[in-house]
Amino acid sequence: TIRIGVLALQGAFIEHIHALNSLRNIEHISNVIEVRTKEELASVDALIIPGGESTTIALVAERSGMLDDLRAFVQTKPTWGTCAGLILLSKNAIHTKKGGQQLLNVLPVTVYRNQFGRQVDSFTIKLSSPCLDAVSDGSTNVPFEYVFIRAPAIASIDDPEVESLVSLPPGHGHTEITENGVLVAVKYRNLLGTSFHPELTTDNRWHRYFVRMALGETAQS
Ligand code: GLN
Repeated sequence: TIRIGVLALQGAFIEHIHALNSLRNIEHISNVIEVRTKEELASVDALIIPGGESTTIALVAERSGMLDDLRAFVQTKPTWGTCAGLILLSKNAIHTKKGGQQLLNVLPVTVYRNQFGRQVDSFTIKLSSPCLDAVSDGSTNVPFEYVFIRAPAIASIDDPEVESLVSLPPGHGHTEITENGVLVAVKYRNLLGTSFHPELTTDNRWHRYFVRMALGETAQS
């Protein structure tokens, strides 16, 4: 079994906790905790970095003295960054705050912050996602409803080992990067990065996907 933490410095962490708790009877999860200190971080096997404001999460992490611990954690432990969390995991973020912002610098992708416009431009879209078939209890091709809130887009993959999982059809986001559609979910070694908010729906297949991924990773180490 695994103990999963959700970074709870700012943003949509409660919803992730609820989604994980809803899985406790069907996946091998022993405990789900909110992580605010390096001690709590050290106690978990896998981590979710939620959506919110990536600049704020990084600032609070820095002030809490846990930025270096986070950097070390994400090198090897299963970690899922959603939205702002994806930005934090990335090696390269465009449209960051003046003066730059701290990144965990581990996922070899380039993300564009706020790629789909402002808060009012938030949208949802249903897409079939073959990568979820394994966690769909026998039914295949059931579309997932993706929620985008001032979301980042993955503009480029900067290492051939990065696996692309889901992309949006052309026509969403800025044309400079959307000619072939925009990538919104990737996997790389121990890391999962998604630009949407799966914790805001009742469909918990992405959480199951991550838990399975984390169980595989922890079994190997
Ligand atoms: N716009 C936020 C950022 O740049 C991310 C938005 C979100 O996490 N919903 O950090």
